[in-house]
Amino acid sequence: MDVFKFAYFPFVNAAAKYVQELDFKLDELFTERAFDPIRERGKNRVLEAIGDGIKRNVNPDKVSAEKELLSYPVARILVSCINDSYLIKRYALSEAKSAFEKVKELRDDEIGELASDFNIDSSMNEKLFVIHFTDYIRFANVIHEPKWKLVNRNMDLGKVSLSRDDFSRIMEEAIRKRIESGLPAAVPGDICETLRPYLDEIRNALSARKSEFNIEEFKEIMPDCFPPCIVHALSNVQAGVNLAHSMRFALVSFLINIGMNVDGIIEIFKVSPDFDEERTRYQVNHIHGDTGTAYTSPSCSTMTTYGNCFGKEPLCDRISHPLSYYRKKAWLLKKGKPEYKETPVTSFS
Ligand code: SF4
Repeated sequence: MDVFKFAYFPFVNAAAKYVQELDFKLDELFTERAFDPIRERGKNRVLEAIGDGIKRNVNPDKVSAEKELLSYPVARILVSCINDSYLIKRYALSEAKSAFEKVKELRDDEIGELASDFNIDSSMNEKLFVIHFTDYIRFANVIHEPKWKLVNRNMDLGKVSLSRDDFSRIMEEAIRKRIESGLPAAVPGDICETLRPYLDEIRNALSARKSEFNIEEFKEIMPDCFPPCIVHALSNVQAGVNLAHSMRFALVSFLINIGMNVDGIIEIFKVSPDFDEERTRYQVNHIHGDTGTAYTSPSCSTMTTYGNCFGKEPLCDRISHPLSYYRKKAWLLKKGKPEYKETPVTSFS
C-alpha cells in the first residue's frame, strides 16, 4: 500500500508506521498553526460520524493524501478527549462503513493484503475468498442475519468460502473492532485543553444528536428513568452495534412493557447495520403478543445470567427487575428526591 491507500485505510499498521516516519513531532499536530486544516478535517471526521457518516475525500496528490491520513489520529484524539461510549461506538462504526466502500473497490490481492493486517489468512478459490472458520466466527458473530450463521456457510476442512462482498463485510467488522478497541486512547490533559474549541463543537453536535433521538422516539415515556442496562443497549443500537439476541429481546420487551408502540421501536433499530424492516417488525410484533403470548422483559437475575446487566448503580440494589427500576425511579423523581434528580434527562452515554 502507498500513501494514497493509507488515506483511505489509516488504521492499518503500515499507515501508523508511515506517520511515525514523517518529519514532525506528533505534538505539533495539535498545536502548530500550519496543521490547522488537518485539525479541521479531523474534527469534521468526528462530526460526520455523528451525522450522516464519514465521507472519504478524493486525494489528487501526495500532500492531500498525507493530510487526510493525518486527520485520522487527530479524530481519534478528539474522540478520546470526549470519552463518551456512544460517540466511540458511533465513530468506529462510521470509519468502518466508510472504509467498506473503499474495500469494495480494491483488487482481490489488495483485499487479501488488507486482511493480513488483521491476521486473517485468506486465499482465493476461483472467485471466492477462503478463510479459516475461526477467523470467520471472530468477525461474523456480531452480524445477525441468518446467512451469517456458520451453519449456513459452505465449509470444507475448516475453511469458509465467501463472495467478494461478504469478505468485504467481514473486513468492515474487523476494522470497526480494531478502531473501537483502541479507544479511548490515553491523551494528556494539556492536549485536550489545546483542542478545546474543536471539542466544544463536537460536544454540541453530540448532545444535539442524543436529544434528537430522545425527543423523537421517547416523547410518550420517561427515558431518564431507564435502568443502566437498557441505556447501555440503546447506546449500542444507536451506535449501530448489533445486539446479542438475548439483549435485543430484553430491550424490545422492556420498551413494549413501558408502553412504547411498535413503530417507535422499529424506528430505533433502523440504524442497525443489518436492519431488515420486515424481519424486525415481525420480531417486535411477536414480543408484543400479536401471535398470542405477550412477553414480560427479563428479570435482573436473568439479565445477569446472560451477561446483559451493565452499569449497575445504587438503585439497582433495591430492585430485582428492570421494570421495577423504571417505576421506582419515576416515583423518586416525582417525589423530588434530590439524589435522583441529577440524572440528565437526555443522557444515553
Ligand atoms: S441490576 Fe437490573 S436494572 Fe440494574 S443494570 Fe442490572 S439488570 Fe439492569
